[in-house]
Order: sequence, then structure tokens, then C-alpha cells
Amino acid sequence: MPSLRCDVTTCLHNSDKCCCKNTILVEGEKAHAPESTCCSSFDEAREFGGRNEFESKNLALAVECEAVNCRFNDAKRCKAKHITISGGKATDMKDTLCASFEER
Ligand code: SF4
Ligand code: SF4
Repeated sequence: MPSLRCDVTTCLHNSDKCCCKNTILVEGEKAHAPESTCCSSFDEAREFGGRNEFESKNLALAVECEAVNCRFNDAKRCKAKHITISGGKATDMKDTLCASFEER
């Protein structure tokens, strides 16, 4: 279970550049580069009237991942020690990516 930094401050689940969810799902089944991945757990904060005040950051979340070409992917679980999700001003999950993707 990787530690995670997330730069997507427009996401409802972001708190202090950490994620508040218990599990996220990274997509990118055919990805050969970070740009073809995304965090499908993204929800736009604006759509929900702003930040979710009752979630707090989860420093031990699980990362499920469909990017099977990444060297950190083990049976669709991320085995990296640390990952960064990027996409600063994202308004859609497709604007996000796993910056830690490395092709096998
Ligand atoms: S974009 Fe993904 S990793 Fe980042 S806060 Fe949102 S759900 Fe969590
Ligand atoms: S580092 Fe690789 S295995 Fe881990 S979430 Fe990112 S793309 Fe998936």
C-alpha cells in the first residue's frame, strides 16, 4: 500500500495534498506513459458545492490499478512505496494521471 501525494486540489477527496478515500482506482489498461492513466475516483469538488468537510486524509489507502504495463503493478494492485497523482486544476478524471507510472 503506497503512500500517496495528490496534487489534484480540485478533487472533492483531496485534503492537504493527500487523499481521503480508503481505496482509489487508477485506470490505464493500455497505458505506455503516465498521460494515459487517470484516477477514476476523482470527483469534482465544485459539482458537490465545495470541499467535503467531513472526510479526513487517509495515509494508508489502497491503490487498485488497471495500468498493467507499469512495473509497480502486481495483480492490479500498486506495489510502489510512494506515488504521486497529478492534474492540478482537473475538472474531469481524464485530466488526472499517475505521475509515478514507469513502463516495465
Ligand atoms: S484525484 Fe484521486 S487520489 Fe487525488 S484526491 Fe481525488 S480521488 Fe484521491
Ligand atoms: S505507480 Fe504504476 S501501478 Fe502504481 S498506481 Fe501508478 S500506474 Fe498504477
